[in-house]
Amino acid sequence: MKYSYIAKSALKHLRSGFKLPYMVMFETTLMCNMFCEYCIFGEEGKFNDLKTRAVRERIFQRIDEMCEMGIFALSFSGGEPLLNPNTSDYIAYAAEKGLWTSMPTNGLLIRKYAEGVARLDMLEVSIDSLNPQRFAKRRGIDGLAKILDNLEFVLAQRRPFTTQINAAVNLENLSDLPELGDQPSHCSQHRACSFSGQGLTAPCLPAGPAARPASARG
Ligand code: SF4
Repeated sequence: MKYSYIAKSALKHLRSGFKLPYMVMFETTLMCNMFCEYCIFGEEGKFNDLKTRAVRERIFQRIDEMCEMGIFALSFSGGEPLLNPNTSDYIAYAAEKGLWTSMPTNGLLIRKYAEGVARLDMLEVSIDSLNPQRFAKRRGIDGLAKILDNLEFVLAQRRPFTTQINAAVNLENLSDLPELGDQPSHCSQHRACSFSGQGLTAPCLPAGPAARPASARG
C-alpha cells in the first residue's frame, strides 16, 4: 500500500512540475502535560483548553485531501499530540492510506497509546537529559524513568522501529549530549539524535548517525 501510494504521489509531483507540498505538520492540540521552562505550551496549562483540539471527522477529511494532493509525509505535532485522544486513530488512518508518518512526543503517554504509536514510521521522543534531576528541572515534571520505560515498551511492539531522540539544548544540558547520543545502547532500535539549540549551536556528535534539525517541542 505504502509503495503504491508513494509511486502515485510521485507521479502527481512530476506532473505538477514539483510544485506540490511534500509534507504536512499537523498540530493535533496545543495542550501539554509538561511544563518545560523554554516552551510556550508549558506555561501553566495556558493552552489546556479543549477548544484547542481539532474536530475529529474534519481531520479524516483533511487526511483524504492530503492523499489526493500527493502529500508524502504527515507529522503529528502539538503541544503533546497524545493529549488529543484521536491522535492514535489519525496515525492509523494515515498509515492505512500510505502516508509516511512521524510524531514528536514527550513520551508520557506512548505506552497508553502503544498500538497506534507503533504504526508510526518514526517516533520522536524528547529527552533533554538522562540526569533525572536536570530532566525534572527543565521539564517541570519528574518523569524520566517513566518515559524510558514507556519507550522500551513501545519498541517491543514493533521491530524494527525508527526512533529519534530530540533534545532542546542550552548551557545547562550541553554536557549531557554525549550520553544522549549513546542512547542507542538503551533503545536498540534507535536511529537518530536531533539537538536544537537555544542561543547556541549544538555540536554534531558521532554517536548520532543521522542528526537533523527539529522543533524544540514535543
Ligand atoms: S517542549 Fe514539548 S513537552 Fe515541553 S511544554 Fe512544550 S510541547 Fe510540552
